[in-house]
Amino acid sequence: MSAWSDGFFSVNDSGGIQVSPAKNGAPGIDIHRVVSHLEKKGITFPLLIRFQDVLKGRIEQLYAAFREAVDEVEFGGTYTAVYPIKVNQLHEVVEEILDAGRPLGMGLECGSKAELIAALPLLDDDETLLICNGYKDRSMLELILSGQRMGKAVLPIIEKMDEFQTYDQQAREIGLKAPFGVRLRLTTAGAGKWADSGGDLSKFGISVPELLRVVEALESRGEQERFQLLHFHLGSQISDIRTLKKAVREITQVYAQLVRRGLGIKYLDVGGGLGINYGGTYASHDDAINYSLGEYANAIVSTVKDVCDAEGVPHPDLISESGRALTAHHSVLIVNSIGLYTKDEAPESFTPLESNHRIVHDLHSLREWVRSELTMKVSELLEAFHEAAAKRAEADSLFSLGYLPLEEKADIERLYWAICRRINDSVQSWDSEALPPELDRLDSHLIDQCLCDFSVFQSLLDHWAIGQRFPIMPIQRLDQEPGRRAVLVDLTCDSDGKVSSYVGPGHREYEYLHIHDPIPGEPYRFGIFLVGAYQDIMGDTHNLFGRVTEAHIYADQDEPEGFYVEKIIRGTKVQDMLALVQYFPNDLYNRMSKHIRAKVQAGKLGSSEGYELLERYAETFNESTYFTAPSEGPSFSGAKTRTWSDE
Ligand SMILES: *Cc1c(COP(=O)(O)O)cnc(C)c1O
Repeated sequence: MSAWSDGFFSVNDSGGIQVSPAKNGAPGIDIHRVVSHLEKKGITFPLLIRFQDVLKGRIEQLYAAFREAVDEVEFGGTYTAVYPIKVNQLHEVVEEILDAGRPLGMGLECGSKAELIAALPLLDDDETLLICNGYKDRSMLELILSGQRMGKAVLPIIEKMDEFQTYDQQAREIGLKAPFGVRLRLTTAGAGKWADSGGDLSKFGISVPELLRVVEALESRGEQERFQLLHFHLGSQISDIRTLKKAVREITQVYAQLVRRGLGIKYLDVGGGLGINYGGTYASHDDAINYSLGEYANAIVSTVKDVCDAEGVPHPDLISESGRALTAHHSVLIVNSIGLYTKDEAPESFTPLESNHRIVHDLHSLREWVRSELTMKVSELLEAFHEAAAKRAEADSLFSLGYLPLEEKADIERLYWAICRRINDSVQSWDSEALPPELDRLDSHLIDQCLCDFSVFQSLLDHWAIGQRFPIMPIQRLDQEPGRRAVLVDLTCDSDGKVSSYVGPGHREYEYLHIHDPIPGEPYRFGIFLVGAYQDIMGDTHNLFGRVTEAHIYADQDEPEGFYVEKIIRGTKVQDMLALVQYFPNDLYNRMSKHIRAKVQAGKLGSSEGYELLERYAETFNESTYFTAPSEGPSFSGAKTRTWSDE
């Protein structure tokens, strides 16, 4: 937790998770309390909680880091953060960022026409910067010019040569010497999963030869002042600070030479890419970054200063476009567990009947033997495993040929898993490399599956798409030793709909999560952390699972529970999801009604019975797309109900 939580999350004395948005020692918010509070209001799961103070906290941390870096080296320029709204365009999130960032002079960045249309009216102050990236058509460029005519600080970033020509022509038509920025294609490429956003292979930015054409065009008309900003973006989640320093050095060199040539560049924009630690360790791993917020700011400020001083040009004003680093921490997804699948194992009291097949007796003796031997050598365990596997295979072929009743096949499977469990327990203390592969693999076959009420495709898209790991924890009973291991699987009918890799201590990747033995009748929930950047906005509608319900929470010490709920945005209803794929309630209702009427007329259904079926069908239009049972904890399949009575 200490590696990924950045001080925002901790475990409290009651075994729950505490959110501490402010670092001034104010008491935090207990996630469990927020969940119970919302549950009382009838909110259903999955539930995305936004801690708005965390968002504010991150903005303040970012500015503080740059302020310190600027002060330390007596940098001559200012620093401005712009929020790239593609990370999460939700109106409330953008408003919150603008509110929190207003005293600091925070701006926005957009990358598409729809984003520009959404962002323009949000510019309350004329000074608030709006940086427009992405490929821009005529209508988008026209909109940018409209913003400038209104006196707003809207700056297009030229991504392509012909974009410059169109913009230039449109500006001239209305008699405007319209300012702009340029995104440069650097030779320095990023590293990690998003490396191709920079470097020669990038689909973005203009090359140095093209840059010179732009410059010459401006010079020929004496319009050097229009070129105001130089931009690069290395790609998201920069894992190695050295890559960033190299890129900053390269762009500052370009800046210095252009300034000396007489261009009016005011801003140096270092793009996004400020990373966060998703993993359990600081390392040069895809999940992790090898620098802190402070080091990031220092690297940029001091590199720009060094190059500018060496070249004898004034320090520019700095801009960065951090999205992930500002928003990731502020949302936590809470999911309910609704079922636990375990391997059905024969209880210790199991004794075969006289009449049972020989294999049942053989496996039973084998099981008694592995149970009674306290210390066994690896060779003995391996032999026992081979024997159990052979017996099970023999039983399978006998069954296929019709020589084994279903009940005895079930007993054989249960005995087999009980033997495997015992063998696996014995080898736990062994180094995995020293084990025969059969025994090493055994472990993964014995891990439980915990069915959770969510969709990976809607809420954790990057996990499915690029194997991004997110910290996941139970949100209760963290003061108790978890006795079980499980893989979390989702509601979709897709074998990829699961969390296949977990964050844990050290460099290792974990294939499972430690969870507690469920308590019947008690809900058991997981928190999925750091999902505030990109996840919910990119989520897709696989199996027609829609957006989850959101609650926006503010810390407030005057409230009895230390927080208040500012807003609840209900998740997508069944009928909204259906409309996306062109099914509409009226039509569905009429069709269903026709079928029912036909059955009533044919005497196969009573008329009131038919009416009831129809009404019940219509009621579901307004339901959540997720699991709507009252939350009473997971149900079980496998032997576990029996294991409890054994205990
Ligand atoms: C996506 C993007 C960002 C945000 O990147 P983060 O890694 O989320 O900080 C910034 N600038 C541009 C141009 C982008 O495309």
